[in-house]
Amino acid sequence: MTLNQYIRDVQDFPKEGVMFKDITPLLNNPKAVRECMALLLNNLRDRKIDKVVGVESRGFFFATLLAYELNAGFVPVRKPKKLPFATVSASYELEYGTDTLEVHTDAIKPGDRILIHDDVLATGGTAAAVCELVEKLGGEIVQCNFLMELSFLNGREKLGNREVYAPLVY
Ligand code: 5GP
Repeated sequence: MTLNQYIRDVQDFPKEGVMFKDITPLLNNPKAVRECMALLLNNLRDRKIDKVVGVESRGFFFATLLAYELNAGFVPVRKPKKLPFATVSASYELEYGTDTLEVHTDAIKPGDRILIHDDVLATGGTAAAVCELVEKLGGEIVQCNFLMELSFLNGREKLGNREVYAPLVY
């Protein structure tokens, strides 16, 4: 089975000129999800992950499964005003304007070993903001983990020396 066949290209979503990689066919297929999990978990079991940070909203699917498999806590990073308790926030540049992400202040303790997971690494703005949130709370980032990387957008550059892993690369 090649996992690529479960990623659907949708032209002009969410706006004209964008080719969107839709992961819902993959989520719909338990065999594909299992294969993905095996790839995403590659080498992580020995790395003493305390918490998996998942990024709203498509990052939540695999982040919760990874947290379960690694016997780690799950931490949601969300868009503004979604989280009920005290938060810290980080903003990042979009093509037009800025966006902000938030995390609960008590979700990560200084020294916690953190796995960050999102479905897609594109320009890297989102992941860089999530790294900033984790580090503001004293977390130690073990790996930035993605289902797929759109390598032509050079998102890795925004993540500096951090370890980046994505089983599917376009
Ligand atoms: P970045 O900040 O790296 O440019 O964009 C990454 C964020 O946008 C991720 O949270 C991801 O969910 C979303 N994203 C950007 N492009 C795509 C895409 O083609 N497919 C999916 N599923 N998500 C995307």
